[in-house]
Amino acid sequence: MEKDIFKMNKGVSRRDFMKVSTATMAGMAFGAFNIGFAGAQEKADVVIKKSPMNIIMDSANFPWKVAVKPFKVAPHIFYVGNAWVGCFLIETTKGLVLIDTSIYETLYLVLESIHDIGFNPKDIKKILISHAHIDHDGGAKAIKELTGAEIWLAREELEFKSNSNIPKFTEMFKVIDYEPDCFYDFDNPIVMGDIMIRPKLTPGHTPGTTSFFVDVKDEKGRPLVWAMHGGVGTNTMSDSYFKKTGFPVSLRDQFIRDCEDLKKNHVDICTPSHPAHSNMLQLVPQIRNGFNPFYDPKKWAAFLDERAEFARSVIGK
Ligand SMILES: [Zn+2]
Repeated sequence: MEKDIFKMNKGVSRRDFMKVSTATMAGMAFGAFNIGFAGAQEKADVVIKKSPMNIIMDSANFPWKVAVKPFKVAPHIFYVGNAWVGCFLIETTKGLVLIDTSIYETLYLVLESIHDIGFNPKDIKKILISHAHIDHDGGAKAIKELTGAEIWLAREELEFKSNSNIPKFTEMFKVIDYEPDCFYDFDNPIVMGDIMIRPKLTPGHTPGTTSFFVDVKDEKGRPLVWAMHGGVGTNTMSDSYFKKTGFPVSLRDQFIRDCEDLKKNHVDICTPSHPAHSNMLQLVPQIRNGFNPFYDPKKWAAFLDERAEFARSVIGK
C-alpha cells in the first residue's frame, strides 16, 4: 500500500513524501487551507504545486525563501514575521515586546528583521504568544534563552499544549518545549513604559487563543488602536477536529459569538496573525511618508464577519 503511494509520486523521495504528508497535516492544523484550497489535502502532488503548502515546507526547509522585509504597520508596531506567519514587534520606552515567534527555523529572520529596523533583539523583554501552535511559539524558548525575556501565554492554553491528541509535527519542525513565565490577566492590561497592551481571550482556534489590542498615538498625537486577532483558522473548528481532540464544539460557538462581540471594539489598524488571512503584504508597496495603507477603521469588523462566516461553514464537517 505504502509502495503504491510512492509510485504515484514519481520523483518525490520517501523523505520528501513524509515531509509533504506531514506538511499536509500541518496545513490542516495551521489553517493553510482556509482560503481556496478545499480538498487539496487529499492530493500530495497538488499540494506541492499549489502555494500555501509550499510556504509551510519552505519555512521548514528553506526559510530564506519566506523572508519578508520588515515594515511598520502602526506607530511603534512593526511586522517582523515571514510570508507564512505574522510576528509583530512593539517598541516601548521600557524595551521591546514580541508578539509570536514563528517556527524555530525562521527565527533568525525575525532577529534579522528586528535588527534591520534599528533595534537590538536582546532588548526584547516580553514574548507574547497568541496560541500554542508551533508556527506561533516555535521560537519562544530560543528567544528567551537569547534575551532573558518572559514568555506569556493564556492559562487556558496549558491543557491544549499538553494534549497528546494534538499533532506536534516533530517530523517537520524542530520542536522545543517551553514553560510560560506569565499568564495573561484578561482584566488588566500589560503596561510596558508608555505602551498599554490589552490581551483578550478569544477561544475557538484553540481554547486559549489570545488577541491583542494596543493603544498608540500617531505622529500628530492622535490616538489609534491596533489589533491582531490571535487565531482565526477554522481548521481546528470542524466537528471532526473536536471529536479527535476532545475539545468541546462550544469553542466554535464561542468564536462566532466573540467575532460579533469584538466588533464593538474600535480598531483603526488590524493586521492578521497570518499574512494569508488578509491583503496585508500586498499593501506594503503603498507605504510612504504620511500614508499608512493599513489604516482602515472598517476593516476589523469586515475581517471578523468573514472569519465568523468561515467558522459557520465548517459546522457539521
Ligand atoms: Zn494556529
